[in-house]
Amino acid sequence: MSAQSIVNQVNWIKRPQGQDEKADRSLTDTVSAIIARVKREGDAALRDYSQQFDTVVPQQFEVSAQEIEQALAAMDPQTRRDSEFAISQVRRFAQAQFATLLPLEVETLPGVHLGHRIIPVQTVGCYVPGGRYPILSAPVMSIVPATVAGCEQIIACLPPGAHPAMIAVCHLAGAHRIFKVGGAQAIAAMAWGTESIPSVDKIVGPGNAYVNEAKRQVFGKVGIDALAGPSEIFTVADDTADPRILAADLLAQAEHDIHTRVGLATTSQDIASRTLAEIERQLGNLPTAATAGEAWRRQGEIVVCDSEEQLVAFADHIATEHLQVHTRDPHATAAKIRNYGSLFIGQNASVVFSDKCCGTNHTLPTMAAARYTGGLWVGAYVKVCTHQWIDEQGIPAIAEPAIRQSRTEGMQGHRRAAEIRLRPQEIDAITAGT
Ligand code: NAD
Repeated sequence: MSAQSIVNQVNWIKRPQGQDEKADRSLTDTVSAIIARVKREGDAALRDYSQQFDTVVPQQFEVSAQEIEQALAAMDPQTRRDSEFAISQVRRFAQAQFATLLPLEVETLPGVHLGHRIIPVQTVGCYVPGGRYPILSAPVMSIVPATVAGCEQIIACLPPGAHPAMIAVCHLAGAHRIFKVGGAQAIAAMAWGTESIPSVDKIVGPGNAYVNEAKRQVFGKVGIDALAGPSEIFTVADDTADPRILAADLLAQAEHDIHTRVGLATTSQDIASRTLAEIERQLGNLPTAATAGEAWRRQGEIVVCDSEEQLVAFADHIATEHLQVHTRDPHATAAKIRNYGSLFIGQNASVVFSDKCCGTNHTLPTMAAARYTGGLWVGAYVKVCTHQWIDEQGIPAIAEPAIRQSRTEGMQGHRRAAEIRLRPQEIDAITAGT
């Protein structure tokens, strides 16, 4: 089924508003100006942008040991225990995943040895979003897997106005150095380095539209994990789903940001109408309704599908960040779906659990990037680097086709380099061109 035919076939109860291309262009221009200035002026540009966008300019960007002590001391003990619980859950799962990343050594032909090693990225910059809410699990998700992978230097950047508990959790999660700078300017600083902030090999972590556009623009100078922008949630449901739960989960994500994309695809017209009513009812008493309601009005969508097959095709088409499955046999439905950041199988597995503490990473691909990538995981902090060694026995099998291929391609330097392996006693003649 083509993308257009899927979109045309479903019955739209509520459609999202279209994207604003002019706004996209202005975001690109704003961010490229920020990056260019940070690259040119370093800390001076960071100070100006902090004043302009965060209205706070820290005396020094790096968080001192004393500030960390103060942040830990000021942390409510139960909040600290809850963060430590989240850290241990994320660590356990990351360790289990890390154990699947194995070095390899194989003899593909007699004498031809090929392999790979798993090598940690040396320096990592974790962006910790901190604008609208102090999301205490955010530093856990980007820093803990870096410690499991064995990265040598893990730095964290968070907006200067972030709650001190966020600094405490960056430290508890294992960051080696913490800096108070946010937005696109933080990404630029970690990519190019400034007087205060070291440049890194790879930048990871979610953030708002500015942060993601900056990550996109610095890719190449540094590695990035993926583009993890404003949250998204979609639930696929049949007539066994509970509209109260569907609405509550949808609004839980909608409160993140007015740009959150939230939706429901269902085979039941009745569930669609009841969820629509339930969302309005719950918005009536949700303390964060200003944000959640705006997100729902802008990006909320509900579609009714004719069959489970269409439901699955629609889910694959939208490739959402969080996909919940509330059907009669959720495991069977889930097994058919291929495009999602993370899958929440059955009514008990709320996205909120992964957001906070169950142990899977909450930093996940948005904007349909789930078509080609999964979310942040310990594997994003390592490189799988190949190697080869060839003994006497293996040389003819590899050198002869390599010589023929080089000749066909007109690459005489390649031909020579291969030939001197095959006939080392003739090296002088070969390199003399005779
Ligand atoms: P943020 O830290 O991403 O952004 C705050 C920074 O944005 C500020 O420090 C400021 O410097 C910059 N900024 C603000 N207004 C600006 C402007 N007009 N021009 C240039 N820069 C500006 O925090 P946030 O804004 O709260 O956003 C966090 C985002 O992260 C949310 O959208 C949330 O949904 C998302 N998130 C995504 C995931 C995921 O895995 N996809 C996980 C957690 C959070």
